[in-house]
Amino acid sequence: MTLDDYVAWATTIHSKATIGDRDRLLSYTALGLTSEAGEVANEVKRLLRDGTWDADRVAEELGDVIYYWSRLVATTGRKPGEILAASRSKIDAKVNANQS
Ligand SMILES: [Mg+2]
Repeated sequence: MTLDDYVAWATTIHSKATIGDRDRLLSYTALGLTSEAGEVANEVKRLLRDGTWDADRVAEELGDVIYYWSRLVATTGRKPGEILAASRSKIDAKVNANQS
C-alpha cells in the first residue's frame, strides 16, 4: 500500500466524529493527531521509567498517528507526496544552512 492509497482509504472512514463541517473535522483530526503522538511518547517514556520499551506498541501507535495525519492531509487538499517533498526540501535547507 502506498501513502497515497492509505490517505485515499482513510478519507472513506466516516463516523459521528468525522461528519460535519470542515472546522469540526480539522479540530477532531488535529486533536486525534496530538493525542496519538502523546501515546507514542508515552510508550517511549517507559524506556526511561522501566528501562525497556515495546517496539510493537510504538509501531501500533505510529499507525494511529498516520491515520490522523492522513485525514489532515486530505483536508488540506494536497497529495501526501507534495507534503513529503516540501518537508524534505525544508529539512535539506536547514541541514545545508547548518553546514555552511
Ligand atoms: Mg493509539
